[in-house]
Amino acid sequence: MAKAFEIAVFEGDGIGPEITAPVVEMLAMLAGRSAEYSLSFVRAEAGAGHYAKTGEALPAESLDIARRADAILLSAMGIPSIRYDDGTEIAPQIDLRTELDLYAGVRPVRIVPGQPTPLNLPDGQGVDFVLVRESTEGLFHSKGRGEITRDEARETLLITRETSEKLFRFAFDLAKQRKNAGLGPGKVTCIDKANVFRAFAFFRGVFDEQASNFPDIVADHAYVDAAALWMVQKPWIFDVMVTENMFGDILSDLGAGLMGGLGMAPSADIGDSHAVFQPCHGSAPDIAGQGIANPFAMFLSGAMMLEWLGERHQVASMAGDAQMLRDAVFDVVSRAQWTTRDIGGDATTQEASSAVMDAFAVVS
Ligand code: NAD
Repeated sequence: MAKAFEIAVFEGDGIGPEITAPVVEMLAMLAGRSAEYSLSFVRAEAGAGHYAKTGEALPAESLDIARRADAILLSAMGIPSIRYDDGTEIAPQIDLRTELDLYAGVRPVRIVPGQPTPLNLPDGQGVDFVLVRESTEGLFHSKGRGEITRDEARETLLITRETSEKLFRFAFDLAKQRKNAGLGPGKVTCIDKANVFRAFAFFRGVFDEQASNFPDIVADHAYVDAAALWMVQKPWIFDVMVTENMFGDILSDLGAGLMGGLGMAPSADIGDSHAVFQPCHGSAPDIAGQGIANPFAMFLSGAMMLEWLGERHQVASMAGDAQMLRDAVFDVVSRAQWTTRDIGGDATTQEASSAVMDAFAVVS
């Protein structure tokens, strides 16, 4: 009997609805042809637009839908002109991470032949690593708690042993899985600033403790500034990188830049009981409503969702579907005929999405 999964869908703001529709259509098509799983989609309201209409950024009902769901698909939220009184933006996507304890932000960086990249890669040199960004504490712990006087502003980061241990175990397990799948050499690099800050020396200490439980995986360290340099100069040295929330926020956009832009960068925020799958980019208000947003990061996030659900619920064919979906996206990217403006083409969101559907029909 097919396993039934309920997916909470947050369409969000800006380009969100434009990139969500084709991906939900694709996922429904995949499930429709499977005898092993089915997907149902429940829409949940949240975001800056919703806040402007109702005064609520993340209604309790939407949080309930998210908690009940087997997985959460989210596009992007935020509109720069809509803010709280303290000047910060409406960001329920960040609140969801803390509410659902989604401590492991998984940001794959993959460059295949033919993919636009600002890097001048040596012949035959691919790039395939994963940045794991702690997503519930670090400097983001201070969100809404900063202390401001006329003359001073303070924001304090938090790093806990409990979350760090779970985060590092997650990163080492991921490196082990990648090694077993032939995707990486089995290495985790802890990215910190332990040369200057005690909190990061603590972070590194917990990393080293956890590393001793994974003798088959190489445990490495890099300071965040050097890591940024090496991500540009020799990104192939990385396998799994693991870091604090704010460092990860910045480095994951650098990773997206290496892949040709934010429109190519998927992500997953994973906890022990819940997970959110969403592109790394924001709501792109500068191009919203024009039908030209790149849907590929959203497709790739959908593939990560299938993979995670399949592994969690032992439905082997979901990983196969995820891989075919990824192959279809990279096929379209490498042929460069139906790509959107941000990665050098002139296709619309709809045309790029249809191209993925067509490519899927070929690879499946
Ligand atoms: P952004 O990612 O929305 O846009 C940055 C640039 O990348 C823009 O030029 C945009 O047009 C382009 N871009 C982004 N996604 C694209 C896509 N799929 N296709 C083509 N081009 C794309 O970042 P921003 O402008 O700093 O933020 C806009 C809003 O999004 C803000 O309100 C911000 O707070 C919010 N935001 C939300 C998230 C999230 O929901 N996870 C992440 C980042 C920013």
